[in-house]
Amino acid sequence: MPYFETIIIGAGPAGLFAAKTLAKQKKQVLVLEKNSEFGKKICAGGLTQKDIDYFKIPISICDQSFNSAKLVIFKKIAYLNQNEPYLYTIEREKLGGHLSEQAKQAGAIINTNSNVISIKNNSVNTDKEHYTFKYLIGADGANSIVRKFLRIPTNKTLTTMQVRTNKLFKDFEIQINTKLFGPHYAWIFPHKNHTRFGTATDQQYFSISKLRNNFFLWLKKYNVTEKDIESFPINYDFKGMQFNNFFLVGEAGGFTNGLTGEGIYNALLSGQEAAKKIIDPNYNYSIRFKRILEQKKFCEKFMNFYKIRPLIYLLYKLLPFYCKNKNRKSKIINYFAN
Ligand SMILES: Cc1cc2nc3c(=O)[nH]c(=O)nc-3n(C[C@H](O)[C@H](O)[C@H](O)COP(=O)(O)OP(=O)(O)OC[C@H]3O[C@@H](n4cnc5c(N)ncnc54)[C@H](O)[C@@H]3O)c2cc1C
Repeated sequence: MPYFETIIIGAGPAGLFAAKTLAKQKKQVLVLEKNSEFGKKICAGGLTQKDIDYFKIPISICDQSFNSAKLVIFKKIAYLNQNEPYLYTIEREKLGGHLSEQAKQAGAIINTNSNVISIKNNSVNTDKEHYTFKYLIGADGANSIVRKFLRIPTNKTLTTMQVRTNKLFKDFEIQINTKLFGPHYAWIFPHKNHTRFGTATDQQYFSISKLRNNFFLWLKKYNVTEKDIESFPINYDFKGMQFNNFFLVGEAGGFTNGLTGEGIYNALLSGQEAAKKIIDPNYNYSIRFKRILEQKKFCEKFMNFYKIRPLIYLLYKLLPFYCKNKNRKSKIINYFAN
């Protein structure tokens, strides 16, 4: 059986960034990806400035950049704007292409068409091969087989719904309306040749069938009549990253923010941190990493206010007034984007 010091299951942002980080330190690493291509992932493709600055995602591979987010809060409109762009949209295939090239150039081996079907304490089986390892990184997304092997339950998930329309829209838009979308929001993310409309919620908070009805009614307001809904769960149930010689990163580890749904940055960062821990077992997790976990906690506490409905309603209602002040507006942008 071929041996690799580290095997990574999944070539999404988390797995590819972990692979690049390990390979750059001359560590022997194999990535197993079930698909034949990179970036085949249902996603709105929204990035923030921190992806560009910290992970050096080239702006040239992004579809669009925005210096403003239009917030539609019930019927009030507020703009979270600044002089420079801080929001971007990207095709996941382009992001996958870029990250896989970087990982390969650093020396990682990536086997596509390799679906992992079973795991043991120090070996994995794909439909074709057996491999042994010292460390295993589960970067295999929301339905992670590694998480199942570790018997870590997933109790917090978002159900998503998204449609693509060829109609072009100008604004990067976030719509908040607790009656339509519960504690969550709906998005309008313009790409180069199309626009993605979507929403998500956790059924603990809001009924999925109600959300679906409201989503279609909302789309009608924009004359978006496409009926092909794309959907994939988001796991935001974080229960730890390291379990002896196993790691769970990205969505396998529940790193996505349960309120904003931001998962790409959290996936890249957790992939990098797991790799650093393998390179140096005494590595202390970075402040950036601790910050995403704190943000997740904060946002999920905020979501809980929905259980006391008038409170979240009031907080959202205050948001347009809060955004009127320039300093407070920069604080919000800084909190989410930097
Ligand atoms: C509708 C929707 C909209 C979203 N919008 C945004 C957004 O705008 N911005 C943002 O930051 N985040 C967004 N997210 C979240 C984001 O897509 C994820 O958090 C992110 O992709 C997680 O990256 P990952 O590397 O952990 O997992 P993934 O990107 O899911 O990659 C996992 C990889 O593992 C592979 N794999 C799975 N099982 C196996 C197996 N058994 N064997 C081999 N390979 C396997 C898969 O094929 C896949 O390539 C959105 C999610 C959804 C569903």
